[in-house]
Amino acid sequence: MGGRCETAPSIELPRRAGYGDRVIGRPLNDRELRSYRHVPDDVARRVRVVAIPALPGRYVGLTLGSIVFLAEEVSDDGDSTLLAHELVHVRQWHEQGRARFAVAYLRAFGAGLIRHRSWQEAYRAIPAEVEARQEAGRWLRSHQGRPAADDGEAG
Ligand SMILES: [Zn+2]
Repeated sequence: MGGRCETAPSIELPRRAGYGDRVIGRPLNDRELRSYRHVPDDVARRVRVVAIPALPGRYVGLTLGSIVFLAEEVSDDGDSTLLAHELVHVRQWHEQGRARFAVAYLRAFGAGLIRHRSWQEAYRAIPAEVEARQEAGRWLRSHQGRPAADDGEAG
């Protein structure tokens, strides 16, 4: 979440055989699964990435359960810091349960609004966001200079 949305990418809601008609988005590909090691493999494998033209406010990414909505094009080469950030939220949802995560997130946001009197500061102060920024930052530092292609791909 966060950042500025300036582009309006095309809608991508493919149906995937074997998952049922109600499943939207695409799963992470093998390269992404190898790259985004900062979240557990079983969590990464349940992720679906959905590109949509716009998200509320200035969001460029929004995670609901295992579905990551992105309002900007991101690479599927396993080098997207935005996707790395949203995957932390998928793990948080998965670990805490949807209801607990949503309640804790909104409660922290509400408390932050009272304390900071700023939407942006309140959003940045949410513990789930602090953690996602830290983990995505660590992922980026460990990922830089180590292309996904060199990370165990055979052939
Ligand atoms: Zn976030």
